[in-house]
Amino acid sequence: MEIPFAESYKIKMVEPVRKSTREQREQWLKEAHYNVFQLKAEQVYIDLLTDSGTGAMSDRQWAAMMLGDESYAGATSFYKMKDTITQITGFEYVLPTHQGRAAENVLFSVLLKEGDRVPGNSHFDTTKGHIESRRAFAIDCTVDIAKDTQLEAPFKGNVDIAKLEKELAENHAIIPFVIVTVTNNTAGGQPVSMRNLREVAALSKKFNKKVVFDSARFAENAYFIKMREEGYKDKSIKEICREMFQYADAMTMSAKKDAIVNMGGFIATNRQDWYDAAKVKGIVYEGYLTYGGMNGRDMNALAVGLEENTEFETLETRIKQVEYLAQKLDEYGIPYQRPAGGHAIFVDAPKTLTHVPKEEFPAQMLTIELYLEAGIRGCEIGYLLADRDPITRENRFDGLDLLRLAIPRRVYTNNHIDVVAAALKNVFDRRESVTHGVKIVWEAELMRHFTVELEPIG
Ligand SMILES: *Cc1c(COP(=O)(O)O)cnc(C)c1O
Repeated sequence: MEIPFAESYKIKMVEPVRKSTREQREQWLKEAHYNVFQLKAEQVYIDLLTDSGTGAMSDRQWAAMMLGDESYAGATSFYKMKDTITQITGFEYVLPTHQGRAAENVLFSVLLKEGDRVPGNSHFDTTKGHIESRRAFAIDCTVDIAKDTQLEAPFKGNVDIAKLEKELAENHAIIPFVIVTVTNNTAGGQPVSMRNLREVAALSKKFNKKVVFDSARFAENAYFIKMREEGYKDKSIKEICREMFQYADAMTMSAKKDAIVNMGGFIATNRQDWYDAAKVKGIVYEGYLTYGGMNGRDMNALAVGLEENTEFETLETRIKQVEYLAQKLDEYGIPYQRPAGGHAIFVDAPKTLTHVPKEEFPAQMLTIELYLEAGIRGCEIGYLLADRDPITRENRFDGLDLLRLAIPRRVYTNNHIDVVAAALKNVFDRRESVTHGVKIVWEAELMRHFTVELEPIG
């Protein structure tokens, strides 16, 4: 008999989870204005809201926490973190920040001004927020196949080189840099190929533009390159990471993802001029240069987390769990962004709740139904998250409308995944009876999905 695949770790600390009744959940959801961000975590049974900062740290990370150097300036913890980052990415200058969006804020404060355009593959919501709040424009040049959820392709996160070239040719005077998000979260955790990174770098160079990687899941991206791209099968994840970052001038990082810490982030670059300019902003917004919003112990844990999560076995365990959920959904015929992403499954809501019009936010309705069914919290990555067009103030219905089931790293077992799949199947089986969605009662101008208040229609 073939020996089955199993996790690359065993468990030595546990945290209880709570079940609830449907009546309780109906009440709680109403109190939360039908926005799952406003639920209390204890009202959730299995929490797939995000994989950000929700991972389980390893024994080595916890051990490193005890060795944290809490000196204000020049802490050993900073240098441990910096050396690890430099080894993995090749970037010499490292500026810590408290999380990914803070890194964006600091770097964009230096690089961006009103009226600028920033092309790339799909911009993450905070990235878009930091661009649009500066009255600049995020130009989505993702490959068109990313919008066809049922099409199987290895690198649906790629930048469309022709679209990028057109944008660079027409607007080069007002483009400060190109940004590539690895993996492409918004398009479904889909990876970007090494070839695509190389082409983006070459094209940007031709137009004398710099390239920034939004690197939250760069290690997962490297795993997909190893598994799917010709020529990388025998390379280590760390070798692949080193090559990826050769094609960037700088990176912003949410360490809450691929460094498996609960809080943390950084900017890294080889450009001294960018570092020197960002230093000033970093001190104003985040803190002194050798901590930037992080405790010494957190920087220690970050260093160990990055080291561990750029090992093949760690990534394999994680991504196979996401694939496991995908296989279940295949069995039940539930449509999701194919193939399975690195950190999440993105269920195609308009293809599931076919009777809910787009104006009534199908993915949000699916999020609500799944919570009511079994206390599982997913997250709408769709028309609500897309915000309104900054100029016309119209809702943006031109992208995908997805329910994201993000899997925290090293947290749930495949038994939990079975529960998620079964609950989703129950919702799917009664999809014909869901004919209405929700309407907006209150919304913020930017990043509205976090705080939006909704009401069910009908
Ligand atoms: C999470 C994330 C960010 C923002 O990071 P935070 O740590 O949540 O502030 C930026 N880009 C991508 C792709 C992300 O997934």
